Amino acid sequence: MDDVNSRVRRAIASLPYLADKLNEIEAVLGRPVAFVIDPVLAGQAGGKAACPEGVVSLSPESVDNLSVIGEEIMHLHRCTRGYPAIVPGVRSVLLGYKSGLQALSGFFDEHAFFPFLENLGLDPRAPIGARMEPTARALEAQMNDIQREGFTEAWRVNLTAAYVQAALMAPPTPDRDRLLALFDRPVLRQYRDLGRTVCAAIDLTVNQQPDQVERTMTSCVREVLNLTDDAATIRRWF
Ligand SMILES: [Zn+2]
Repeated sequence: MDDVNSRVRRAIASLPYLADKLNEIEAVLGRPVAFVIDPVLAGQAGGKAACPEGVVSLSPESVDNLSVIGEEIMHLHRCTRGYPAIVPGVRSVLLGYKSGLQALSGFFDEHAFFPFLENLGLDPRAPIGARMEPTARALEAQMNDIQREGFTEAWRVNLTAAYVQAALMAPPTPDRDRLLALFDRPVLRQYRDLGRTVCAAIDLTVNQQPDQVERTMTSCVREVLNLTDDAATIRRWF
């Protein structure tokens, strides 16, 4: 574990602006951030940041990937600056849209800090770009289910998250455009429209303070997605 920590910190030291962010996080936490390998994440270019704990888990593939490391550091940075997150409730687990909520929560952070990472020469959108083709394929395979099941909570959250990921977060590629074009089909149009509303809301929060972001996030969850307290809450740790 020490090994991973020093390896990751050496890599971060090559980007002084990112190292500054890490220092600011650690000043708030009052202790060093721990970088660990999480074998559960194996096979993905990805990581996970546990906010009040100050732990960054990385897939074995991502230990040297500064785009992934930088993204997780910036999630922690937002959190320690008092920015809110959507916390999935039991209802979202039972109904199968916990991961959609987590994705949406992340987009509020990512839309605000991806330009910072891109200015450092990093490529945080690459893993999102790689997901456009499989997401489009999965969506086509689900089209009949979506039609049959109707406007359920789970489709509302998961399809809105998929739309926002493609429209706001992904790099512009033919795969991305193909995925977005699926949302013009009649069965998906209502989710596209929710997605557009959420995109506009997230875009509005880019330069907002935590209080305002909390209000915008709350209105997305309660009014746009129409979710109850047992499905999702908005939380700030700092
Ligand atoms: Zn992220």
